[in-house]
Amino acid sequence: MFEPEEIRKDFPILQRKIGGKEIVYLDSGATSQKPKQVIEAISKYYETNNANVHRGAHTLGDESTQLLEEARETIAKWIGGKSEEVIFVRNTTEAINLVAYGWGLDNLKKDDVILTTEMEHHSNIVPWQEVARRTGAKVEMVKVTSEGLLDQDNYKDKLKLKPKLVAMVQVSNALGTINPIVEMTKQAHKIGALVLVDGAQAVPHMKVDVQKIGCDWYAFSGHKMLGPMGIGVLWGKKEILNKMSPFLTGGGMISEVYVDHSTWTELPEKFEAGTPNVAGAVGLVSAIEYLDRLGIENVREHDKWLTVYGLQLIAGVEGVEILGPRDAELRSGSISFTYTGVHAHDVATVLDSQGVMVRSGYHCTMPLHNKLGVVASVRVSFNVYTTKNDIDRLVEALLEVKKIFGK
Ligand code: PMP
Repeated sequence: MFEPEEIRKDFPILQRKIGGKEIVYLDSGATSQKPKQVIEAISKYYETNNANVHRGAHTLGDESTQLLEEARETIAKWIGGKSEEVIFVRNTTEAINLVAYGWGLDNLKKDDVILTTEMEHHSNIVPWQEVARRTGAKVEMVKVTSEGLLDQDNYKDKLKLKPKLVAMVQVSNALGTINPIVEMTKQAHKIGALVLVDGAQAVPHMKVDVQKIGCDWYAFSGHKMLGPMGIGVLWGKKEILNKMSPFLTGGGMISEVYVDHSTWTELPEKFEAGTPNVAGAVGLVSAIEYLDRLGIENVREHDKWLTVYGLQLIAGVEGVEILGPRDAELRSGSISFTYTGVHAHDVATVLDSQGVMVRSGYHCTMPLHNKLGVVASVRVSFNVYTTKNDIDRLVEALLEVKKIFGK
């Protein structure tokens, strides 16, 4: 295990004081803070290697290209894929849209079923609704139980509809639920569906191996795992990516361009039109190295420990109702709750006045909140720099809510 109090020293932003108080940052699910190693790696790239890739037949261009390709290799190794299967995108949202438009538009037709879940982030719902609108396919959703788990009986029933695609989240951003993704992927493959996994909240907190999961595509964002904003990854099986159409077209992804038609280059560039975010890729490598130094198993243990401690303390506050499973083994990274009689935005405002930063609203999971009958919730989410003291400060600040609202 590592010492989060020590880890905090690597994060310049956490040294800031607001209103004379140390920052309690409990919004890592939205975006994580960045260690100085990541910030320095990005600066170093711009100070020493910056040039556009491939195009310049000069030293800086070569260095920049090499850094991008080394980043691809590091990421591939980290998630258990091949480097040509790693497509750089901006974020999870773009990765899912790439599959929706690059695979969905060509492979779905009227009355085909796209199976997603009630637990999805809007990023794994709306692109499928758009593809359904254009192709005549239908979106079905696996139900969520009152405990905040995917209803496995309902999943089996929905698989009887023979969906062409199952698009599901590994770790829920709103509930923290860890879904049994390996087993669910197996079941989907048995009926011939392809599987896309939204790993945005999984990669920051646990070991992810796409081979072990067995999925066909895996999407994640760099900014939630200590890396910079603006870089994300779509991993896909080579044979599937090879058959897909490009999502964005233009420079950098073509083989030949004629007046009346063009041909595409090989993977992975086929999906990477335009100038890539090399600095972002370099920063993401630095984030992976940072997590590797801590040991991703230790990151998971730390996260589990915080979840146990947080669940216990937060649930003890009068008026608080925790959403999602109570068993820390089944959750990761975050705890969402409601406060009886006080709107989540009001709770968040009071917490902010105490230097405690949380997220309030429906966290881009409106269908889930509707299903649970909750208008909005407060979410506290962790990362490697989150300490026991952060949770204690949260609970103290929650008592302030009681004082102010008298609830
Ligand atoms: N899926 C999940 C589960 C998420 O938590 C998020 C970010 N909140 C996204 C998708 C979208 O990620 P991004 O905004 O980086 O595209």
